[in-house]
Amino acid sequence: MTDRALEIIPSVKPKNWQEILSDLITDPKELLHILRLDINKKPLSLSALSQFSLKVPRPFVEAMQRENWNDPLLLQIWPSEEEEIGLSEYTSDPLHEVKFNPVAGLLHKYQARVLLTAAPHCAIHCRYCFRRHFDYQANTPSRDDWSDSLNYIKADPSIHEVILSGGDPLALSDRHLLWLIQELESISHLKILRIHSRIPIVVPERITSELITMLSHSRFDVVMVIHCNHSQEISENVKKGLAKLRLSKITLLNQSVILAGINDNPAILKELSYTLFSLSILPYYLHLPDKVMGTSHFSVTSDKAIKIINSLRRELPGYLVPILVQEEPGALSKTQLV
Ligand SMILES: *Cc1c(COP(=O)(O)O)cnc(C)c1O
Ligand code: SF4
Repeated sequence: MTDRALEIIPSVKPKNWQEILSDLITDPKELLHILRLDINKKPLSLSALSQFSLKVPRPFVEAMQRENWNDPLLLQIWPSEEEEIGLSEYTSDPLHEVKFNPVAGLLHKYQARVLLTAAPHCAIHCRYCFRRHFDYQANTPSRDDWSDSLNYIKADPSIHEVILSGGDPLALSDRHLLWLIQELESISHLKILRIHSRIPIVVPERITSELITMLSHSRFDVVMVIHCNHSQEISENVKKGLAKLRLSKITLLNQSVILAGINDNPAILKELSYTLFSLSILPYYLHLPDKVMGTSHFSVTSDKAIKIINSLRRELPGYLVPILVQEEPGALSKTQLV
């Protein structure tokens, strides 16, 4: 079949988030066809692709510029040859997370809060991801296996907050999520439920009224930390989803990763803060990327990142300046750089 023939078949638009998640773009050729880009201009790394596959939801691709290899959204997901650069300080588990993994699916690194890797996958594969080598399959308990994590939390009254994190917790069905939240609600020393998710940005259709109802009815104080790196990610559809979240009583925060060639620039981060604030979302962390194998081309020096933060401080109200952090293995909290 020729490309022309493909074009005259009317495209059936996926309607709900489950359909979008089961129809992700995984074929680099299809992606480039949509973006009107020529593979010969920027080769694909097959070894990067086999190590961490291409995976990107169609709504996120819609927000990319056509015919632009340097599009800041495309750069976040393209398996580029630069991933083959191997530097000795770049490892597969730079944070030694394996050490803080007392039971499958649970990380207890910092006081009073535990992190659950609640889902086996994400909706998108971000090339800079520090968990790209993490064994989610081994760390994603099925519903029956959750009891180890729940018992661990029950046995430690110093834990006040549970963080549902990557794989993306909003990739879970509402039924599974509700079950998990109710199990956690029955543990009386827990006060706060935090959800870290990139899905409100990459599949805004996930923000359904059922989800809002579930989160608004929880006895927990609920915090959602979305993950947005660039204001171009905030399409009209994303705005609609975020506007629904804003009507709930959930506290909304954003974390970003500072990425070379994508957002390592005060003007871009300033615009991101303003755009998010117009949706009632405050900046939380700006992470320096961790030294994960295959991600060195995204790295920004701490000196440069500090300069950018200082410039944001001059130009923005304090509440719109994110906290610049990096993770150091063994530290008792994330480390603030300024
Ligand atoms: C980042 C992180 C947290 C949360 O840290 P905050 O500073 O409270 O945002 C908790 N557990 C783990 C394992 C983390 O990586
Ligand atoms: S959504 Fe988060 S956890 Fe998933 S690949 Fe992207 S950065 Fe990693």
